[in-house]
Amino acid sequence: MTCSSGCNGRLGARRLLSFVAMVGATFGAAAYGEVRVVTTTPAFADIVRNVGGTHVSVESVMRGPEDVHSVSPRPSQMMLLKRAALFVHAGLDGEPWAPLLVKGARNPNLLPGATGNVDVSAGIVLKEVPSRAQMTRALGDIHAFGNTHYALDPLNGVIIARTVAEALKGVDAGNAGEYESNCLQYEGRLRAMTARLVEAMRPYAGARVVTYHRSWPYFLDRFGLVSIGEVEPKPGISPGPRHFSECVEKMNAQNARVVIVEAFNPLENAEAVASRVGGRAVVMAQDVKALPGVDSYESLFEHNVGKLIEAFKAVGTGE
Ligand SMILES: [Zn+2]
Repeated sequence: MTCSSGCNGRLGARRLLSFVAMVGATFGAAAYGEVRVVTTTPAFADIVRNVGGTHVSVESVMRGPEDVHSVSPRPSQMMLLKRAALFVHAGLDGEPWAPLLVKGARNPNLLPGATGNVDVSAGIVLKEVPSRAQMTRALGDIHAFGNTHYALDPLNGVIIARTVAEALKGVDAGNAGEYESNCLQYEGRLRAMTARLVEAMRPYAGARVVTYHRSWPYFLDRFGLVSIGEVEPKPGISPGPRHFSECVEKMNAQNARVVIVEAFNPLENAEAVASRVGGRAVVMAQDVKALPGVDSYESLFEHNVGKLIEAFKAVGTGE
């Protein structure tokens, strides 16, 4: 009973699919048909959709605009996980609420180490990994194992897509060929887009910026930009007046005019800093659906690069 080669006629295929859907509803993953996937973020959901194609149904726990570090899991989300074949998450300590969801779902396939628990930090070269001594001091803070915002480099998206493809093959071997070809096609698109956007950013290479939260080291490195500090004195900590002044001094000293702020952080704080150096605050999408029009992982980079270039032009950076 191999659908890819053995089904003749649309009706037969449809009957088989509805049978498969029934089985899928009972067991979470069907041998052929819909694989239920739950992701922590909309960015991961979009990557899963691209790799899984018609064989997956995907839901994200987050809607997009939220701060990934402070999401409150709800019982309805635990129910989603109860029925899922795969749970795709960022691993490390970036989503401290994710293990609570897994625990609450009581789905043995999703427990840490089980095949359905997909930690997409696997294979990623993490930035800002603290030494053992630093780790002891940072214990309890976010980013304690390294910076968790690795999905903001589109070439890390390629690695994430690969991890997702292997996980899908693991629970739905019948469609492994399709997952593989989808993954390769998606990888090609991400690489081409990255090359084009890196080229577009080239006139501003080396430009210095300040970011609100430390969300952007992967993004900035990929596009040749340099962060000289954050509006937050420490990840997740609100700035006081002294830190504000330090930020302004640093920007003046290093000729930085642009402050990048995430959709969930207070724009007025970013603008207050930017206005004191005659600069600009730019709201960037830290996730898919964080801002209107940012509906896919690819459009996130198109949007953010476009907005940054606009800001650099407005403040005369790169002239
Ligand atoms: Zn963070």
